[in-house]
Amino acid sequence: MPDMETIVSLCKRRGFIFQSSEVYGGFSSCWDYGPLGVELKNNVKRAWWKSVVQMREDMVGLDGSILMHPRIWEASGHVANFNDPMVDCRACKLRFRADQVDPNEKCPETKGPHDLTEARQFNMMFKTHVGAVADDAAVAYLRPETAQAIFVNFLNVQATMRKKLPFGIAQIGKAFRNEITPGNFTFRTREFEQMEIEYFVKPGTDEEWHERWIADRKQWYLELGIKEDNLRIREHEPDELAHYARRCADIEYNFPIGWSELEGIANRTDFDLKQHSEHSGKDLTWFDPETNEHVMPYVIEPSGGVDRATLAFLVDAYDEETVRDRKRVVLRLHKDLAPLKVAVLPLLRNRPEIVEMARKIADDLRPHVSCMYDDTAAIGKLYRRQDEIGTLYCVTVDVDSLEDKQVTVRERDSMEQVRVPVSEVVGVLREKVLG
Ligand code: ATP
Repeated sequence: MPDMETIVSLCKRRGFIFQSSEVYGGFSSCWDYGPLGVELKNNVKRAWWKSVVQMREDMVGLDGSILMHPRIWEASGHVANFNDPMVDCRACKLRFRADQVDPNEKCPETKGPHDLTEARQFNMMFKTHVGAVADDAAVAYLRPETAQAIFVNFLNVQATMRKKLPFGIAQIGKAFRNEITPGNFTFRTREFEQMEIEYFVKPGTDEEWHERWIADRKQWYLELGIKEDNLRIREHEPDELAHYARRCADIEYNFPIGWSELEGIANRTDFDLKQHSEHSGKDLTWFDPETNEHVMPYVIEPSGGVDRATLAFLVDAYDEETVRDRKRVVLRLHKDLAPLKVAVLPLLRNRPEIVEMARKIADDLRPHVSCMYDDTAAIGKLYRRQDEIGTLYCVTVDVDSLEDKQVTVRERDSMEQVRVPVSEVVGVLREKVLG
């Protein structure tokens, strides 16, 4: 398992993730996804959407707005309850989340233990003002979770898509939390992306559906290559359950910082729909045509972080090995996640015929798979670069290619090389990557 420094440095060096606002000295725990990072993150989101929407008859999607009616956050309990206990050290003025203070940490001022204040509740929602007048009536919040847009659209979606229970709504989008102690790279930030599902079921079937979703979601990570030993399910203790939850199980990943939450799967009962019914005055029950009764659905919520998942995939894929006495770093990303599927490399960049053939192959591949052309170094170095960013295949055009019209296709993990006729290279790689 690599340490976090190794991952942070690879991400910066190879264009996955940069510190936000770097030329201004950075902006606390905000990160920008670079050219390869955005490809990887998009692939994570695409794989999730495919698995939970495209492949399922009982699921549909939504893309709600970030700014919503402020009363939503009163109804949901966030205004009153979305607090973390905060403590300050009187000596060094550092601020901590009370439940995350490391008792062994020394205060930089006194060199002894921190001199902590009593815990105070700190609401983590970012407040803003909508419109030109910044008075209390104009207060709005940046959403701290995507879920609420789903709850308040429950009937819109149900009616327009003619859905019957059980069915679910999936959404991917940004969420914002004014975390007291963000850190550990992209693991905990103040602006992040969530992939959330609200799955609406008949009361009484909720426990069974909860179990099914825990199993399904764990399976998704495994199918995308996460090692089983690095995943575990952790049940929440009764005293750590959120105010709306009857039961919650976290999928945890063995991050370099230790076992930590990747995704939470909660039974939110009928709390949210009930609250919004009461606060809005609109009846958010579902009319069951079979029993002629109104049902307040129960909700199972698998809620994962896009950034945490992306980080876990990077960490899990990172591998170092020794090949012919040299260290090889390789990102063994699943083929659906790899930012680039193919790199086309000319063996000699000063031979126009070779360059032309290589560029033509790259152009032919582009409509089918993500692909780059690179001639900026010698072939050994080009291979190492592609291994380090997880590119699945390298296609090399050499002097022989001009004669026999064949190219070398090298596979990332095994480094196995085969000669493939130029006329077949698109078909062969399509099959390998997409098949
Ligand atoms: P934690 O206990 O780590 O603060 P949480 O239990 O508050 O997380 P949830 O409210 O369950 O998190 O949010 C669902 C998912 O959103 C989390 O599993 C995580 O992947 C992601 N997430 C939550 N907060 C952050 C954050 N500050 N930065 C990045 N991802 C986050």
